Amino acid sequence: MKKIVILGAGISGLTTAYLLNQEGYDVTVLEKKNEAGGSMESVVEKGYLFDRGPNSGLDTTPLIMQLVEELGLQNEIVFAGKIGNKRYILRNNQLHPLPMNPAAFLKTKLFSGRAKLRLFMEPFIGKSNDGYYQSITEFVNRRLGREFLDYAINPFVAGVYAGNPQELSVKSAFPKLYALEEKYGGLIVGTIKSLRERKSRAEKSKNSAKMFSFKSGMQIFPKAIAESLGKRVIKSAEVVSVVKENSGYRVTYNYAGTAHNISCDIVLSTVPAYTAKDLFCFMDDNLAKHFEQIYYPPVVVLFLVYKKTIIGQPLDGFGFLIPSKEKKSFLGAIWSSVLFPNRSGDDEAAFTLFIGGARNPEIENIEKEILFKKVRSEFESLMDISGEPVFMTYRYWPKSIPQYNIGYIEHENYFDEFEKKNPGVILGGNYRGGISVGDCIKNSEILVKKIKSL
Ligand SMILES: Cc1cc2nc3c(=O)[nH]c(=O)nc-3n(C[C@H](O)[C@H](O)[C@H](O)COP(=O)(O)OP(=O)(O)OC[C@H]3O[C@@H](n4cnc5c(N)ncnc54)[C@H](O)[C@@H]3O)c2cc1C
Repeated sequence: MKKIVILGAGISGLTTAYLLNQEGYDVTVLEKKNEAGGSMESVVEKGYLFDRGPNSGLDTTPLIMQLVEELGLQNEIVFAGKIGNKRYILRNNQLHPLPMNPAAFLKTKLFSGRAKLRLFMEPFIGKSNDGYYQSITEFVNRRLGREFLDYAINPFVAGVYAGNPQELSVKSAFPKLYALEEKYGGLIVGTIKSLRERKSRAEKSKNSAKMFSFKSGMQIFPKAIAESLGKRVIKSAEVVSVVKENSGYRVTYNYAGTAHNISCDIVLSTVPAYTAKDLFCFMDDNLAKHFEQIYYPPVVVLFLVYKKTIIGQPLDGFGFLIPSKEKKSFLGAIWSSVLFPNRSGDDEAAFTLFIGGARNPEIENIEKEILFKKVRSEFESLMDISGEPVFMTYRYWPKSIPQYNIGYIEHENYFDEFEKKNPGVILGGNYRGGISVGDCIKNSEILVKKIKSL
């Protein structure tokens, strides 16, 4: 029986450990923090439930509901329902619902008549050369035009990656979007054809997948997985190095002030790239260089609660995203209490705002009080709020989400090469194969396959 050590008890490491454990593998998970979840952090402060990381996931793989059932979370999971599909985009200081069907598209004031006409040209635009070295800006500008880039894609990219479309590689960051052009020749034709194909498979597209969270926040999911693994998850265990040893590997970690070693056959790393750099530097200098080039921009997640009576804006959707052209101090806001229960009292509304990201990394140098004053004043004006919040808290992520920037494929290729040179070491986590919770869960099946093939 091969011994497997997994570094990190975020959703990637835990889901993989869970699946391997189910198949009878000998798995140990080492986690630096004293609780499981990684980026999935849910806290209750003064009775308000605040998801400091992901606020929701999309059930893009049947594995999610399978896990929910096996872990007994059926009564905990909550879905956003149709209201979650209504997303607003800011243009000229006004919130416009993002059109979700052709009739709404023709009517919307979010795009000018010219931009709408421009969309009809899309099927006639030829293929581009290399998606790995092409930014999202270049790709979308060429296919759909500038206005669609500015008022649909730019805010969308901020909502998913806290990213900058000028820097993200279209093929690495949005492989499915690029595939529509690569495989079918265009986005409109590709969407129609791939929808037909998808119908015959179980996999849902992100547009039709249901948005979920849990009554007590997202973190209950990884926590329940960790609980089911019992002593196989060692918390407060900070891994400091991985080195080759005889026919396998030695993982060294600090626990309760003492260094411990585990010898194993397989190491799966799911720690962030900036941490993996220090753990594997003893095995390969070049690997560290690749890891350190992966950019994680700073993000502040600000949680605000107001009495409903002082909010003028109707609360009938997911929230809103802000295009960079609108020059605001934050990226957007999720109307948390509209989507999921328990986020605030019945007479109150809770909001989660995202600030910074690759678009505004300078936030790391701005004093929080000054930043929040500006953000609040903009937010309250857009939402027509006439008064103070009853509660406010925040979480600062100095390194939030890995950016799959132009040329990212070179890192990915090197990771493949490294794994070939060092059979038994696998590099996983959200810097490979997608950053969303759904992608991390889906990727765990790929990681299991890789491990079983060793
Ligand atoms: C602010 C924010 C908002 C987000 N919003 C969404 C959203 O709404 N929807 C969505 O789908 N996705 C969202 N994401 C992305 C998603 O949450 C993450 O990509 C995903 O949770 C990453 O999981 P992971 O297990 O790969 O990595 P992580 O969650 O980063 O887990 C890695 C684990 O490794 C541990 N670790 C680090 N160093 C060591 C060490 N030396 N030894 C041992 N353990 C170590 C960490 O403590 C951590 O627990 C968001 C992310 C952030 C930061």
